[in-house]
Amino acid sequence: MEFGTSQRMSHESIEDRIKRLHANGIVDLHFDLPMDLFEKRDRANVLANEFLPELEAGDIGLLGAAIYIEDRYLAEMGLRVGLDQIARLYAEVQKCERFAICKSFAEIVREREAGKIALLITMEGVEPLGTDLDLLRVFYELGVRSIGLTHARRNAAGHGGVFAASGSPRDGLTAFGRELIRECEALGVIVDLAHINPAGFQEIVDLTTKPLIVSHTNARKYYDVERNISDEQIKLIGARRGVIGVNSVLVSPHKKEATVDRYLDHFEHIINLIGIDCVAVGFDFFEFIYRQWSEEVRRQFHKKYTDFHFVPDLTNHSHARNFTRKLIERGFGDDDIEKILRRNWMRIFEELL
Ligand SMILES: [Zn+2]
Repeated sequence: MEFGTSQRMSHESIEDRIKRLHANGIVDLHFDLPMDLFEKRDRANVLANEFLPELEAGDIGLLGAAIYIEDRYLAEMGLRVGLDQIARLYAEVQKCERFAICKSFAEIVREREAGKIALLITMEGVEPLGTDLDLLRVFYELGVRSIGLTHARRNAAGHGGVFAASGSPRDGLTAFGRELIRECEALGVIVDLAHINPAGFQEIVDLTTKPLIVSHTNARKYYDVERNISDEQIKLIGARRGVIGVNSVLVSPHKKEATVDRYLDHFEHIINLIGIDCVAVGFDFFEFIYRQWSEEVRRQFHKKYTDFHFVPDLTNHSHARNFTRKLIERGFGDDDIEKILRRNWMRIFEELL
């Protein structure tokens, strides 16, 4: 006797279903990997020893590896540290055959079929470029394929949104910022709206025509700071058929509400506004960096930004199944789960890279 699909499914355990849904890998478009590799540059095989086990445990198939320059290197060392972070990434990947740096959709597909974890180099804040538009081309040649103009601070391109419900600078991009955005679209670099202030966000929408992304953010409905995005901004991304990656760190201002359940609420809110094709994962796991800081550095970080709470069951890539399990418990179908875990980001790569 043959079993139909539905009967076969009904005998599948939740853990088996997660395994099947993860078989093609999860795409997480924001991870502070190059910065940590750079800080640990005197050690060997950091990628293989310190990152690979968790990435494999979570079935991660592609990571957005974000170049980010810490305040202490600015302004003089911004370019040098940016280049060094990329250099460390290449050196580490060369030593570990499980990874491949990808520059196009075709490369991503090919490396994934070969079983590799694909790395897409992204840039969080254009400080490495200074005010030199020509350097965009240099970073493009090195593999940078997604750029967000700012982190929380001001730079030559624009202003970041503050970690408060109001108070971000009211002006939009600088002339340099506008040129960068036009050039990114022309070159084939994905434009990432994470962190930009509301005025800059609107200006980028007006300047561009292709799908826009927000690699890692949260809905202001549940965490009302200008670093996150409003319902109107969510609708602007949806109207462009872009994708929003949901961040696991600014899930709630209240510790007891920083849960996987509330993390899912951000997804459901975005889906209710713009549909299942425009939401994905941008975990922004940085607990491993936070853990390395002294009490004093942590205190300063909380003072500078805001109170944030790591979600206890979702602090690193090895916890990815806790997220998928919750999607299943909430009644999401296989097709929708695969879009959230992988296919929505892959559509963006196919359209833009
Ligand atoms: Zn960020």
